[in-house]
Amino acid sequence: MKISAIRAYQIDLPLHEGKYSWSGGNAVSVFDSTVVAVETDEGLTGWGEVCPLGPAYLPAYARGARAGIAELAPQLLGADPLALGELNELMDRSMRGHPYVKSAIDMACWDLLGKASGLPVATLMGGHVGNDFALYRAISQESPAQMAKKIALYRKQGYHKFQLKVGGDPDTDIDRIRAAAAELSRGDVLIADANTGWTQHAAIRIADAVRDVDVYIEQPCMTYEQCLAVRRHTDRPFVLDEVVDGIDMVVRGVADHAMDVINLKISKVGGLTRARQIRDLCVSLGIAMTIEDTWGGDITTAAIAHLAHSTPERFLFSSTDFNSYVTVAFADGAPHRIKGRLSASREPGLGVRPNLKLLGKPVIDITNGDGVGTDSV
Ligand code: MG
Repeated sequence: MKISAIRAYQIDLPLHEGKYSWSGGNAVSVFDSTVVAVETDEGLTGWGEVCPLGPAYLPAYARGARAGIAELAPQLLGADPLALGELNELMDRSMRGHPYVKSAIDMACWDLLGKASGLPVATLMGGHVGNDFALYRAISQESPAQMAKKIALYRKQGYHKFQLKVGGDPDTDIDRIRAAAAELSRGDVLIADANTGWTQHAAIRIADAVRDVDVYIEQPCMTYEQCLAVRRHTDRPFVLDEVVDGIDMVVRGVADHAMDVINLKISKVGGLTRARQIRDLCVSLGIAMTIEDTWGGDITTAAIAHLAHSTPERFLFSSTDFNSYVTVAFADGAPHRIKGRLSASREPGLGVRPNLKLLGKPVIDITNGDGVGTDSV
């Protein structure tokens, strides 16, 4: 099988709640997502998606994803999409870094591998574990009282894991954590995710101030070293997210006892191939994971579901159903939350069938033979 065309589509994904806010005054109201189709000479098409969390979260942005795909795609025409190891080597040889650019292409090739073999991606990644798995709900940054109120609202929707967006003023964040913790029921899990927003001294002060609260601290500071200093000071369970951008950081973090849990985002590490490699290492080393992505819609949620559902339950800390945060559904077959839990499709591949009418015309259209077609990144 050979790649005969790579096309990309742009789609806006507005939020049900109007806005998603996190540390540093950052907010997104409409997500700019890129859907990628990898077409083959045998008539099969694989689908992928990449959706950065705005330009200020990781070194990634939506138009950068499309510019990168337009740059990289011509190098991949004629390659075997089912030889995922070789394909990733080829992508890395053709473009240094920029893992998020490669993610949707890699994801689409996993979809192809599943379709070609007649197996769900979850089966290829280890097999569905149980019937479904637990999701967390992100609580956008607002006043302590407003955030605390959301706990009951989201619990009614079936969630029991709540990720508070902190990383703001230290005193307000202490209030946010305490107000939210007061609303917890037995079995609920609370994570205070600062998204790199605290200075080291503020993070140490906040961790001290909530030392009697049953809460996980996630990515308090910008750098690994600052996070490690906070980790060595606190006895709260500790999650690293933004700084874990590849397998080398997992190895380093494990050697330093720097975290108990990592947040594994598919596009942050360059696609499902690399994410699965990290997932398997973490399982072997006893590190639990939140398995998700930066953002996305139906296809991203499907990819997350296949990786998460094939992960041993005790190492799957939580996961995300992004397609329930956004107002636009653009693919049939995508998984949907039932009582705060999700399951991966049993159909071959990712199990998604994008609605081509909704996606409109491709913004990148690179086909065999005549090179670049439309390219209005
Ligand atoms: Mg996080």
